[in-house]
Amino acid sequence: MAKPKIATTSLAGCFGCHMSVLDIDERILKLAELVDFDKSPINDIKRFTGQCEVGLIEGGCANAENVEVLRYFRDHCKILISLGECAIMGGLPAMRNGIPLKECLQEAFLNGPSVVDGMIPNDPDLPLILDKVYPCHEVVKIDYFLPGCPPNADLIWESLVALLSGKEADLPYELIKYD
Ligand code: SF4
Repeated sequence: MAKPKIATTSLAGCFGCHMSVLDIDERILKLAELVDFDKSPINDIKRFTGQCEVGLIEGGCANAENVEVLRYFRDHCKILISLGECAIMGGLPAMRNGIPLKECLQEAFLNGPSVVDGMIPNDPDLPLILDKVYPCHEVVKIDYFLPGCPPNADLIWESLVALLSGKEADLPYELIKYD
């Protein structure tokens, strides 16, 4: 019988959540027995090869390309998971949400202390920056949220195994506390 497929992506994130997926260490071999990885930076598959059981989303939506990729994942994944604080609430990139976009661009590309001969990028090939950074659930339906920055590797492992085996996840307090 064909194994279920998992896909992952990083939108406006730092890849720390993907590092946490790899932090399941040797259990990655068990995971490889349970699932096939589809589109993901982990295996560098660029396009979906079919429908996936689970999609893990790192990062929120800061530009139009993030929105497009997120919708692409929603279309191809039965279960979509927001992985980490950036996906769940925008995280660090969302610190710009209280500042008008024009001001952010001026500070980053014209007036910042390290800028020399600055100019605001304006190339049609660049994805359009959104007015603010949106958490994933404000763009598409998200089925589950795994909090943390990054989420604990054991939390990711326990949650994935539970989902793939159709059981309720048993998540002890130690896995979801953040002090
Ligand atoms: S939640 Fe933390 S680790 Fe994950 S992408 Fe955001 S900043 Fe990086």
